[in-house]
Amino acid sequence: MVDRSLGRVFSFSLISISLYLGISIGVIIRLGQSQRLNAATMPTKPVQFPLAIPEFTPSKTQQQTFPDTITIKAVGDIIPGTNFPNYRLPRFRDQLLPKSVRTHLQGSDILFGNFESSLTNYPYTAKDISRGQVFAFRSPPAYAQLFAEAGFNVFNMANNHAMDFGPVGFKDTMKNLQAVGIATLGHKNQILYLEANNIPVAMIGFSPYEMYNSIHNLGAAKALVAEAKKKANIVVVSMHAGAEGTGALHVKNQTEFFYGENRGNAIAFARNMIDAGADLVLGHGPHVPRAMEIYKGKIIAYSLGNFLGYRTLSTNAQTGDSMILEVKLNSAGDLVSSKIIPVRMDRQGIPHIDRSFQTVKLMRYLNNQAFPKNPVKINKKGEVVVQKKLNPS
Ligand SMILES: [Zn+2]
Repeated sequence: MVDRSLGRVFSFSLISISLYLGISIGVIIRLGQSQRLNAATMPTKPVQFPLAIPEFTPSKTQQQTFPDTITIKAVGDIIPGTNFPNYRLPRFRDQLLPKSVRTHLQGSDILFGNFESSLTNYPYTAKDISRGQVFAFRSPPAYAQLFAEAGFNVFNMANNHAMDFGPVGFKDTMKNLQAVGIATLGHKNQILYLEANNIPVAMIGFSPYEMYNSIHNLGAAKALVAEAKKKANIVVVSMHAGAEGTGALHVKNQTEFFYGENRGNAIAFARNMIDAGADLVLGHGPHVPRAMEIYKGKIIAYSLGNFLGYRTLSTNAQTGDSMILEVKLNSAGDLVSSKIIPVRMDRQGIPHIDRSFQTVKLMRYLNNQAFPKNPVKINKKGEVVVQKKLNPS
């Protein structure tokens, strides 16, 4: 189902992204930034650099300072309220993303999130929610617009909630996101090709579930990453892996289970993806932040934590500690800089920029615990500091 529809979805997404591009460029020019959002499906021909796009030729000064980097911003789990089985939605959907958070989401070429709800009106859930710990989330289709306005352009769907309303709900969610210019990630055998700052980028989403690209099939996963690396300079892997909750803060190099479900060995999987050619791994699923490491010069963020969980996700203790992870990579996919913008969710699950830097403190602690010898250190400002030179070149 998904495979055959991808061609259509891609051409559709090209149109919608193009429309969206027009809007975004307006916004970015207004902000006076030299960076351009240029997300569009990649041509099959190899791309020559630097590439001038006739319709958006920048001024001479801009050309001189035009960056050879892309900026990726990434957040974790997103559930913008639900109207199933009870009504848990805000009065105005704009309340879900306060202004300070929107400001910090700006200025990226790729803005990524893990979307853990469905955008559908379909009435029948595919889950038996009479059992404890089984939840089905359904948000209004119009909420797609909220995320487009905030600048999101890629949502991972390879997780344990995208199918909460079965194949109909899944298709509706995809369609509603594509319609506002948000590409979806994680479909079986899918490689999402994008262009950011004229640099070809590929993204692939993995999860513990066979209907998506699976974290349990390392051979297939590595082959997909290697395939993506042939066509794109930068390969970004999204990984839904690991147990959940405050008991799962510490990433371990072993297979993790959650309610009997095999949630994979996140460390082994992520490192294998880097070995196969990935330049960045964005982890999510544990609903708490987890450590980051630099492996072969590439960042692995083991869990971005929750981001938005309006009256659906717990925000107690570290489940409410959140972040916007910013990563700048050069056109070869190497790390230029990275930082954690700390976010704290309020009791309703709405994110706020956290001036007390709680998530930064937590990440510093988790990193020291998990990877004490790793060259990556997070300073008190949340910046990722690499202590030795990454590339001898
Ligand atoms: Zn999940």
